[in-house]
Amino acid sequence: MRVFKFGGASVKSAEAVRNVAHVLQRQSDGPLLIVTSAMGKITNKLELLVDAYFHSKETKKMILEDVRSFHQEITAGLQIDEFDYYEVENLLIELECIIEKKRDESSSYDTEYDRIVPFGELISTKIVSTYLNKIGYKNRWIDARNFVITTSKNRAANVLWDESVPLINSSLKPLVERQTVITQGFIGRGLNHKNTTLGREGSDYSAAIFAYALDAESVTIWKDVDGVMNGDPRRFDDAVLIPKLSYNEAIELAYYGASVIHPKTIQPLKNKDIPLYVKSFIDPSMPGTVVLENASRTLNETQCYIVKENQSLIKIASKDFSFIVEDNLELIFNAFNKAGIQLNLMQNSAISFMACFNADELKRNALIDLLESKFDVEWSMGYTLLTVFNYSDDKNQLDKVVASRKIALEQKSSSALQLLLVD
Ligand code: ASP
Ligand code: MG
Repeated sequence: MRVFKFGGASVKSAEAVRNVAHVLQRQSDGPLLIVTSAMGKITNKLELLVDAYFHSKETKKMILEDVRSFHQEITAGLQIDEFDYYEVENLLIELECIIEKKRDESSSYDTEYDRIVPFGELISTKIVSTYLNKIGYKNRWIDARNFVITTSKNRAANVLWDESVPLINSSLKPLVERQTVITQGFIGRGLNHKNTTLGREGSDYSAAIFAYALDAESVTIWKDVDGVMNGDPRRFDDAVLIPKLSYNEAIELAYYGASVIHPKTIQPLKNKDIPLYVKSFIDPSMPGTVVLENASRTLNETQCYIVKENQSLIKIASKDFSFIVEDNLELIFNAFNKAGIQLNLMQNSAISFMACFNADELKRNALIDLLESKFDVEWSMGYTLLTVFNYSDDKNQLDKVVASRKIALEQKSSSALQLLLVD
């Protein structure tokens, strides 16, 4: 049994969906579960819709029409007839009913988000499933919310493995054994029976959850790149494909911000020794990358460059000149955690603590509110974080990226060099 994951870019247009069909038709037979994301950039549009709905903005109607016409164009391009289109239309009508009603004042932003945004995946999978059936690639659509059971934490739900695994095993596995099944990434259902989502770009993780529960033989993530590269090819002209990675190397790369694989994806696969393939849907004959435990540590020689733009730098110093040690660090980390900020790089000295994180005004203000009484807080914006994983002293590439830019923070560990560059 195999699990395939197709992301938004692979289904962004009628032509792209046709290409997915070509990719599928060229695969060997055998039980297959296909996990698909929302089409193109629809999740971003649905986020705008949530915002408009939540704040009762008139633009909500326009955004909904945009979402509708985007999908209609694709179904028309795929020549899905009216009879088959009604299921897509039903979902759009359901979405329209939600946003036309007045919002329940007691409901939170994140709850409304999880009510609205999953429509992207629901509609996308309906279209793909319908099209594939139409061209003779028989498959069955199922609702992932019946199988991926999560905590009720909206927008960042945690999977409840003890609930989900038996369900997937007893009810989904027999279906996949009989026929190819298509389902949604990114979405689940809380114990309160309401929708949840797993965090942006969470469809890779969904594929890993299903693979874990199904004891799949492999997972393949189909992408618009050749596989995992040692740098973004748009930025590094000599970027090369990494043919093999160990699970730990993949986890580390994801930790430092390599965006090819969602960070949570690897752990469930590692636990069951399920290999992960990252392959190109543009040229499926290319070998791509395989992530598996006993991969020789190919990275020993390959340096990987990971760039994170749009960083904020914050400097925190104790007002009473007390050292930044256990007690103060506890307060500082608690504040970061409460403000929902993830640190990308940190450094502390006797009486100050510096850290960089993805710029976000709301979160930064929340952080400052939490710290202000005990600490002097200074912040600035306009930085890029460069991580060189598997750093060696070959400085050529590095000099090219750093050029004449000033370095605001620098940190070296045994496996990585991190530089915070001033833009
Ligand atoms: N559609 C969701 C997103 O864009 C999930 C995913 O694509 O993995 O974040
Ligand atoms: Mg996506």
